[in-house]
Amino acid sequence: MSTISLSLVKSCATSACAFNNGGCTAGAINVGGTDTATCTTFTDLDARAGLASANGQVGACKRLECVHNSDLLCTAGEIVVGDSADCLSYSVG
Ligand code: SF4
Ligand code: SF4
Repeated sequence: MSTISLSLVKSCATSACAFNNGGCTAGAINVGGTDTATCTTFTDLDARAGLASANGQVGACKRLECVHNSDLLCTAGEIVVGDSADCLSYSVG
């Protein structure tokens, strides 16, 4: 039996996102995008949402070409998100 561990959103600089409260408070984010790898869970609402603590994880990632992607999951362990919801840990090697 394999153990699945999701990657932590170590930090996120997108302060406009409703899930950002000293870090990502979403339960699990999705990463996708067409050019830049971006967090598609980004929510531009005048509200604060999510968990009480900043423990967001990467629930799914569509960027199969990233070296950290395995079966649409992120294996990086932790990722850093920039100020435009971009995954700064994205790498195509
Ligand atoms: S990682 Fe995504 S959902 Fe979480 S705070 Fe940043 S932009 Fe929002
Ligand atoms: S590091 Fe790669 S696999 Fe992980 S969330 Fe970012 S783009 Fe997706």
